[in-house]
Order: sequence, then structure tokens, then C-alpha cells
Amino acid sequence: MASHIVGYPRMGPKRELKFALESFWDGKTNAADLEKTAKELRLAIWKQMADAGVTYIPSNTFSFYDQVLDTSALVGAVPSRYGWSGGEVGFDTYFSMARGNAKQPAMEMTKWFDTNYHYIVPELGPDVKFTLSSRKVVREYEEAKEQGIETVPVIVGPVSYLLLAKPAKGVSKGFDLLNLLDSLLPVYRQVLTELEKAGAKWVQFDEPALVLDLEAHKLDAFQKAYQSLGANSTGIKLLVETYFADIPAEAYRVLVGLENVAAIGLDLVRGFSTLSLIREVGLPGDKLLFAGVVDGRNIWANDLTSSLSTLEDLEKTLGKGKVIPSTSCSLLHTAVDLKNETKLDAELKSWLAFAAQKVVEVVALANALDGKKNEDFFAASATAQASRRSSSRVHNEAVKKATYALHGLDHRRAVPVVVRLDEQQKHLKLPILPTTTIGSFPQTPELRRVRREVKSNKITEEEYVEAIKAEIARVVKLQEELDIDVLVHGEPERNDMVEYFGEQLQGFVFTVNGWVQSYGSRCVKPPIIYGDVSRPKAMTVEWSKYSQSLTARPMKGMLTGPVTILNWSFVRNDQPRSITCLQIALSIKDEVEDLEAGGIQVIQIDEAALREGLPLRKAEQAHYLDWAVHAFRITTSGVKDTTQIHTHMCYSNFNDIIHSIINMDADVITIENSRSDEKLLSVFKEGVTYAAGIGPGVYDIHSPRIPDTEEMADRIRKMLAVLESKVLWVNPDCGLKTRKYQEVVPALTHMVEAAKILRAEL
Ligand code: GLN
Ligand code: ZN
Repeated sequence: MASHIVGYPRMGPKRELKFALESFWDGKTNAADLEKTAKELRLAIWKQMADAGVTYIPSNTFSFYDQVLDTSALVGAVPSRYGWSGGEVGFDTYFSMARGNAKQPAMEMTKWFDTNYHYIVPELGPDVKFTLSSRKVVREYEEAKEQGIETVPVIVGPVSYLLLAKPAKGVSKGFDLLNLLDSLLPVYRQVLTELEKAGAKWVQFDEPALVLDLEAHKLDAFQKAYQSLGANSTGIKLLVETYFADIPAEAYRVLVGLENVAAIGLDLVRGFSTLSLIREVGLPGDKLLFAGVVDGRNIWANDLTSSLSTLEDLEKTLGKGKVIPSTSCSLLHTAVDLKNETKLDAELKSWLAFAAQKVVEVVALANALDGKKNEDFFAASATAQASRRSSSRVHNEAVKKATYALHGLDHRRAVPVVVRLDEQQKHLKLPILPTTTIGSFPQTPELRRVRREVKSNKITEEEYVEAIKAEIARVVKLQEELDIDVLVHGEPERNDMVEYFGEQLQGFVFTVNGWVQSYGSRCVKPPIIYGDVSRPKAMTVEWSKYSQSLTARPMKGMLTGPVTILNWSFVRNDQPRSITCLQIALSIKDEVEDLEAGGIQVIQIDEAALREGLPLRKAEQAHYLDWAVHAFRITTSGVKDTTQIHTHMCYSNFNDIIHSIINMDADVITIENSRSDEKLLSVFKEGVTYAAGIGPGVYDIHSPRIPDTEEMADRIRKMLAVLESKVLWVNPDCGLKTRKYQEVVPALTHMVEAAKILRAEL
């Protein structure tokens, strides 16, 4: 009755690691203090899994920052600019790579597959000298062993490691990183030898890259890598684990054909075809299947009966004892422990399982598969599943009807965007190259205090409203002084662009400790969408009306779009994501129309996270883009031609999805541009026609640096070389909420000056 866990969150149930890291970085505590907290967290996790009865307990899934960065440290892939001179990679070098230091910026960070976790991108070139440079993986194995706990050390697999890397500065972009496999493998072999010496019986290599659409030579690399790794370590068994999507058939054949690999781990929650692949192709030899039936990416309690039948089915195909229940991926991507949720009622809690509860589910499934079913536990699970299926808190017939009514319809504004823009201009009367901002203005400590105090009833609702109104008035006045053309209210009433709406919509619930690591010490607390979504009343209209009353210039109404709300939440798993998205779209549509009725002529609907939801497998992308873009269009489909719809996106690498972006049919789109070498503009150079308004950010708001007027004017000139002047807007990259007024005021002054210089040149 073996059971396995792919990986576990490292932050701690109350973000203990976050606070320990941040106080260390601030110089308030020393390395020993940090090590002590880290050790306590690791031991607590191992102990918890051991007590629950897990057979294969992971180690080395702890990290002070990121597991890919740990792998770079392991193999000594430290870029020379950090001045590391060999030996064990210590905190200084490690955190310099992660966060930069006084002399050097940090290494690049990017999203880990389609999760909200971010990893530090390895920088590799032909002259990298891989050497074993961190004993962390061995130390953690030994640390657990000292407590009498046998663990499975987890390491990012060599092929995924190389595929996730980028060519170092100065190395040609065409350099094939897989060329480095031959020099990387000896270090991996050395690690295996060290682990074997320490007594390890299994090692888990995470190879999530296996689920991507890989060309044949990349698949060959897996073959080569595991042939080599398994060749001389007889005493240690290899588990290759992959997750986040269906595994493609070719990749599956390669994986099960790896002779020296004793077990494979697969994600059986995401995707549709992996199960049938296993049934068709089987599992040759005496390999084990670690079957990921407990969702590592979500917070829902497992439907144990259904998972058990999947497992039994697999066992029938593969043979008794060959199927080991597991999680679908590392539990890193879910919240830590439901025990600390003091504000959720018992019924709702019975529908949920965080990492700590998922461990128990996996063990219960393993026992049941072995004929030792805990009837009480399964009965409680069935009761919870049934109450979720029938609860009136979850199901709202009116919402369902409205959603089904959308079926087969194409929502689109009747008049084409070029005509609409002319209609809008008749009354907006904007200058050429109009200036605007993305929405938020700096969130001062004073503002945070006011929001906190109204929540804890320290100040009255009236006092709160007065404080927010005063702030809006300040921000409006500032923008008029700066001579910005289309104004914003500054979003002082919002802590977070999703939470603010989630709190006012039906079907959402919020946790107190449901944190998930996003990068380094940064965590997010996604809302949980548990039921049909509806809008009891208008959410932003009063604030927008008040803001517009203060100025003769157009004031943008400011909303978060349905796709972004969806992608930044834990989404219910009892209906397709597309349906939940349509429900949110209907609520936002009502809000848009109420804003219009309230006299707001420009409405921005942010879709910051539209690209994030793009499926990993190419075959699934078109379907996603189709419903996501449709959901956006639903929100705008009821407005007059004269109402100007803006949208905003925080990334620029959408050259591949540009047609979907155009298909959103917004009147104006503002997008990030300045951080990515103006990659975006290349689409237009390649001849994509974009008739709507477009505002590629003219300066990076993620940095405290204040660009001067000439620099921004230059940027605008570059854009004018590929875009018509009448479609171009001038704005920053993103919202200003994380910046200080000392930075924002001069930067926006320069931005408006730059726009004026260019207007004079035209
Ligand atoms: N309107 C939001 C703001 O300005 C947009 C934030 C975002 O794109 N992430 O803060
Ligand atoms: Zn943004």
C-alpha cells in the first residue's frame, strides 16, 4: 500500500519562510536564524507525511528561493558577473542571483509552465563548466534520515533544466542548449553517487518539459540522459515525474521505454488522454506507475470514490502492486493547511483540501487500493461531494439559464472599430497621441491604513468613504495639472484587482491563510470560486460617478475582465472553466452597462492575465483563446458605439496570439512594451494591421528609475515608424500602485512632455 507525494509547499502554514527570508534580507536576522526556521519547516513537513503514512516522502522540495535556481547552484551554473569563485554556492551568491546585489541585477525570472510560480532562468553558454557546487540535496536527505525518515530526493531533471534555460549574454540565440547535456550529465551522475552513499534508495527527477510539444531531437535527449544516469547506479532507483498536462503519445513511448528508469509519475488530473495512453500502450517491464490522481493545482477535496475506481482500473491494466497513488504535481501550487482557515464554515471546508489534507487523501487511496478502505473517511468524502453537488450555495438556476442562453451565440459590437472610434472622437475630442495611465496611482501607507481600519471597524464607513474621496480628488487634480487627457480615479479603494471584485460577487469565498508561492518570498492568496457567479449590485459605479463629477476630462471606469478574474482564482472543478468564465463575464457586462448609464464614456476592462491561461499543448490553445476572447466580448457587447472600451495587458509576448487580441475588439489596448526590447512592435513591422487604438507602454513602472523626456519621445518615434499616429496612445506600461509619488510625478511629467513634442513634430 505504497503512496507518493510529488512535492510540498515550502513557505509554511503561516508563511514562516517568507518572514524569515525577508528579515534576513533586511539584515534583522542572521544566516543561522534563517537556517533554523528552514530546518523546523522541513522537519515539520516530513514528520507530517511520515505520520500520515506516506511511503515515498519527497526531500529537496524545500527551497530558499526556487528549485530551478537550486539546480543551477547544484551544477555550479553561476553567471560570472556574480563573482563566484567556486566551492559551495552560499547565501551571498545564491541570493545575488535571485534578487540582484548592489552591483548586479538579478537573473531573469519567468513563469513555471502555466502556473503562477516563477523560476530563475538559468543562463548557459558553450563555456559553462558544470561542477557539483551544492550539497543541499544530500544534506536534506541526511537531515530527514537523522530523524528516522526515509525520503526520496527530488531534483529538476537534466533535460527540463536545459530546456528551461536561455543562452547566456553574448551567446547566439541559435545556440542549442541541449548540446550541454554531455557536460551536465557527469554532475548529475556524481549527485546520484553521493546520494547512494548517503543511503538513498530512490531519486525523483522532475521532467515537466515532457508534456510540451517536443521535437524528436528533444525526446532523444531524454533517452540519452536516462540511459546515462541509470547506467552505473544499481543501488538507487530512478523515478521520472512529469505533470501539468496530458503527456503526448510520442513522449509517453519514450518515457516508458527508458530502461534504467524504475518508475514514472504522471498527472492524471489535467488533460484527457493520458489514461487511455496507459491503457493502450501499457507499461513494459516491471516499472511502477505513480498515478497523480489528487490535484496539486487546486484546493478541492478529492472525489475519493471516483479516484479509487480510476486506480483500480489502472491496476487491472498494469497489474497488482504496480500503481502507486500520488498527487498530480507538486503541492507547491496549492494552499498549505485548511486547519488555519478560521473564517470558513464547516460545510465549505468539507469541500476543500489543501496540501496537508491532500497528503491524507493520497494515503487513504493507497490503503483502499490495497483492500484496507477506511469506510468512514470514504463516507465523509462522499457526503461532502454530494452536498457540493446539490447545495443551493453552489447552484443558482437563474445564472445557469443565462449562461446556457449564451450558447452558440457570437457576441460582437455591431459597428466596426474604425467607425466606432470616429463616433467616440466626436465627443471625446482627444488630441492626437492622447495620454493616459493604466489605473492605479501609488498606494500610500495612509491608504492601506484606512482600508485596514474600516475592515476592523476602527473607523466608520463614512470616515472611510471621505478618506477615499479625498484621495480620488487629489489624484484627479494631479492628473489635470500634469495635463493628462484621459483620467483615472487611481483605484485607492482596491487592495487587489481580483479580490476587490470577488468580494462583491456571489460565488466567491476568501481564505485567511490560503497563500501560494508566486516567486521568492512573494505569495498570492487567490480567491476561491465555489459557486455560480452573480452580481448582487453595482460594484464601481458610485466611485466612478464621483470621480467623473470632479473633472471635465473623460474619466475611465476601471474593471477587471472575466478571464483575469478566472485565471487568478482557484476555480471550481465541477464544470468547465469556460462556463465559469462566461458567468463572470455576465456580471462584468452588467457593471459595464451600469457605468455607461452612469455617464462614464470610457471603460477599461483589464485582461492582465489572459495569456497566462493559455494551455501548454498547442492543440488545446485555439479552444481556450476562442472562449476567453468570447467572454471578454460579452462584457462589451451591450454598449453604445460612442462608449470607448479599453483593455490592458501586462505582457508583450503575444506575437503568437495577436489575432486573438484583435478579435477582442476593444477600441483601445494598452500593453507592456518597455521591458521586452519592443518585441511587440515587430508584429506590426511584419504587417499585422491593427485598426484600433494602441498604447504600448513608454516606460517601465516596475523600476524606480525615472526616464527623461527624450528617452520617452524616442520610444514614441519608434512606435510611429510602425503604427499610424491616429491609433497611437501614450501611457506607462502598467498601473502605478507600487511606485512612490516622487517617482510618478516626474515620470508622468516627462511622458506628457514627450507626447507634446511628438504632436508638434507630426
Ligand atoms: N488597472 C490595474 C492597475 O492599474 C491594472 C494592473 C495590472 O495590469 N496588473 O493597477
Ligand atoms: Zn499591467
